[in-house]
Amino acid sequence: MLKSENNEQNELHKKACLVRNKNATNSVYFRGLIEFSNICQNNCYYCGIRKSNTKVKRYELTVDQILMCVDSCYRNRITSIVLQSGERTDKEFTDFIFKIINEIKTKFPDIFITLSVGELPREIYEELFRLGVQRYLLRIETSDEQHYYKLHPDTMSFKNRLRCLNDLKEIGYQVGTGVMINSPFQKIENLADDILFFRDIDIDMCGMGPFIPHSETRFANYNYNREQSLNLGLNMISALRITMPDINIAATTALETISNCGRKLGLMAGANVIMPQFSPFSTRKEYFLYNDKPVGTEDDTDLINSLKQVCKESGMIPGFEDPGSSLHFQRRRHGKIH
Ligand code: SF4
Repeated sequence: MLKSENNEQNELHKKACLVRNKNATNSVYFRGLIEFSNICQNNCYYCGIRKSNTKVKRYELTVDQILMCVDSCYRNRITSIVLQSGERTDKEFTDFIFKIINEIKTKFPDIFITLSVGELPREIYEELFRLGVQRYLLRIETSDEQHYYKLHPDTMSFKNRLRCLNDLKEIGYQVGTGVMINSPFQKIENLADDILFFRDIDIDMCGMGPFIPHSETRFANYNYNREQSLNLGLNMISALRITMPDINIAATTALETISNCGRKLGLMAGANVIMPQFSPFSTRKEYFLYNDKPVGTEDDTDLINSLKQVCKESGMIPGFEDPGSSLHFQRRRHGKIH
């Protein structure tokens, strides 16, 4: 599946859409993405905002700024948000997250929150769940331990990342992970193994994107092939959809970066989630994990129209006001759909 091209590839994508429509949904679920801080304690070799990149202007939104972003999502009938930041484990940061969640849950009690703030102790995950966070995204980036250490320094721990994914699932979160596609040192067999990894740890959500080099990293001159990365990215979505029919799969920003219509192609390959940008326009350029990341539009009307258009072009229904829980999660936890 991953190597399919031309007609064979078209058939694969069509099949994946049939599987999605039958087992999950024909709606596109929207997640308002709020990148609230680009401060990170880690040094992932591929990442533009890693700690040692001194050229980045660091920022952290205030609670009020974050609430304004959430309000903007809400006014545009997007009832599910993703709060994302660099990784930090210090108490000041975890207290700040508790405060953000408390404030959001007080002012917008029915909004669904996905957190994507990295590896934390189990007790912190438990407290965040108690405060009302329902979903957690923690990308593993590669499921092969040796490959992981070619992309990350040995101050980071593959085993701890697995521990976190396991804790999150045991606590009761809807759990998402994902990998970079066509990353340095990766073989196609790694990607096939990644899909089996997702199946074996029984994820509820997935966000995978093609690797795109950042100029201030050791992979700045990595010679990657856009078309190959795009095709592999789309085939990964289809192969995962066929393997795990009822999970939520995102058509990611990275896909949109390597192709103008990347999100539409992602939906047409079997994805069902889009994460439009709701961070303040002024900070979006400071969250460049990779080069050329699109900053989106500042105008809400343009944004909503573009979301409707991408749904229409991909033959799907815009899921405004639908928090879009993973059906896989509901079946896993309750044995039926609620
Ligand atoms: S990928 Fe995430 S954890 Fe790694 S350096 Fe970038 S922001 Fe930090």
